[in-house]
Amino acid sequence: MDKAFLVLNAGSSSVKFALFRAESLEPLCRGGIEGIGGKAQFGGAKGREAVLFDREALSESSNHEVATCWLLDAIRHSDHVALAAAGHRVVHGGPDFATPVAIDDAVLAALDSLVPLAPAHQPHNLAAIRAVAKAWPGLPQVACFDTAFHRTMPRLAQIFAIPHELTDQGLVRYGFHGLSYQHIADVLPDIAGEAARGRVIVCHLGHGASLCAMNEHRSVATTMGFTALDGLMMGMRCGTIDAGLVLYLIEQRGMTPAEVSEILNRRSGLLGVSGISNDARTLLASADPRAAEALDLFAYRVVREAGSLMASLGGLDALVFTAGIGERSARIRSTICRGLGWAGIALDETRNAANAPCISEDGSKVPVFVVPADEELPIARAVASVGR
Ligand code: ADP
Repeated sequence: MDKAFLVLNAGSSSVKFALFRAESLEPLCRGGIEGIGGKAQFGGAKGREAVLFDREALSESSNHEVATCWLLDAIRHSDHVALAAAGHRVVHGGPDFATPVAIDDAVLAALDSLVPLAPAHQPHNLAAIRAVAKAWPGLPQVACFDTAFHRTMPRLAQIFAIPHELTDQGLVRYGFHGLSYQHIADVLPDIAGEAARGRVIVCHLGHGASLCAMNEHRSVATTMGFTALDGLMMGMRCGTIDAGLVLYLIEQRGMTPAEVSEILNRRSGLLGVSGISNDARTLLASADPRAAEALDLFAYRVVREAGSLMASLGGLDALVFTAGIGERSARIRSTICRGLGWAGIALDETRNAANAPCISEDGSKVPVFVVPADEELPIARAVASVGR
């Protein structure tokens, strides 16, 4: 029977999972449940052990707890796999958790205290940890944080221009998507060679979107801030806007904080600007000028923020695209790279159309790469190293 690490990534409406062979970190299977809270659906599992999940359907009305238990039950009934440890994506590590950590009662209590910093995500992450503890009492568990990768940012990249007492209370730029950036930092040397050690901007463009400026594989600046609402325009989130606009909506339009939150987190971004969809594929297929405007604004915001990160790095040695849009939309990558042509980026449109690993021209001063996102593998690696 294979000793395996279970990795769980519990999002606001999905639970992704992966099983890795403990000895070699070879992936055994991966999959996920989506649409939790609405029409929950098991999206299937891929890999050698996918057969584990070939069982009675998940109820469409499932909440997070039911969905997680459904997954855990399948693994418990397997004759092929015995869990050696579990690892979890935890969105917020606050100011103190800068590396993955073995979970005990004290750590769990500390992570509970961070719920107000990420109320839409952290409770689901912690519920998954508790569900695993209930299913396998005593199983070693490790928490890996989306914020941790950015704890290497210099102080000026972390603090806001607000009263220092508030900064001292932890109201700083944390940054997110850290597990995705960790994965890029891990694999880029094999893909980009020497350039990977230099000044790199990684564009994580999915439903959520952010950029990270790395130097010597470490984060030096990022676009998301105190929360994951900051920075780029996203599927439904507005990204950076004038805080005065928020005050105006509350003070002059009489909106409640909940109403403003709904607008900025769920009715803005690609969805809000187009009025059509939060899904880039739908907008790319649409002839509506508002769809085009939403996509143009999305690319424009990436170009503006990338310029700002280049200034913080003092130049650029490589550009990387990852996540759904970054990996698969040649058109959006092309628009972004045209906007960054001044920085020495020259795209090879044939390679770009093929989503090739390197999509720049051979003579491009700055090479451009497409790297598939993998937020589960860095967690499995952390489980292996924390457990040792
Ligand atoms: P999440 O942030 O939820 O992990 P993903 O990384 O899966 O999201 O990215 C989702 C986004 O990627 C959606 O906007 C989707 O439309 C977009 N996307 C996926 N495939 C394509 C494609 N072939 N072309 C353009 N956009 C795509």
